[in-house]
Amino acid sequence: MPLHETDAFVLRTFTLKEADKVCIFFTREAGKVRGVARGARRLRSRYGASLEPFTEVALTYFQNESRELVSISDCEIIHSQFFEQMSGELLSVLHYFAELVIEFIPDNESNEKVYRLLAATMETLPRAESRELAAIARYFEIWILKLSGFFPDWRYCGLCEKELVGAASVWITNEGIPMCASCSGGLGDELKQVDWLLIREIMTQSPANFINGRRDQWSVNRIGKMAVRLINRVLERELKSYDLLDRLRPAELK
Ligand SMILES: [Zn+2]
Repeated sequence: MPLHETDAFVLRTFTLKEADKVCIFFTREAGKVRGVARGARRLRSRYGASLEPFTEVALTYFQNESRELVSISDCEIIHSQFFEQMSGELLSVLHYFAELVIEFIPDNESNEKVYRLLAATMETLPRAESRELAAIARYFEIWILKLSGFFPDWRYCGLCEKELVGAASVWITNEGIPMCASCSGGLGDELKQVDWLLIREIMTQSPANFINGRRDQWSVNRIGKMAVRLINRVLERELKSYDLLDRLRPAELK
């Protein structure tokens, strides 16, 4: 059985048998990996607190090609800096982000960009004020859609290929394609210039820089509405973690 060593984020864990846990990791080397931690539910588990969700860990595991679940051999904490005083609101955001990665990113495919997105977001979140969490949620949604191939090229009209950056309005069709005013015929969701420029900032800035700017809450909200529609269209359902996320849900979707 080949041995693998990689950095990873713990996304979610659940009980397998009395003493074991199944863990979903996002690893730097191999993307999303599901594994079994034997004995992790025992009181004196050798895993300690390393399997808490969103901990960044140095992970060692064995992979048997014939099995879907890898076997976790070692898991050492690299960062777990923000769990002691974490608000319920912040925890909800983290569960939401984990669910997005679990749903949108395929298993066992290396994706360094997703790893870097998780790392940058985890670094930014503990310092974010409550009112900034919605902006971070929008940032993460747009990037997960982009990195999973579900966010269309936002710079040009999907029909006539006219440049859309700086257009007074952009229309998002029911299929999620951005169009200029004349191609859209006014059908779909209208995003104003300020919204489109906000998407450009999401695409070109780190999450820390993005939340530092003063954001128009209505514009953040309109982008969220569009992103959530795209997400629901791809998954053909709402994410479970929306139940936890009432305050962050774009207002018109409540
Ligand atoms: Zn057009």
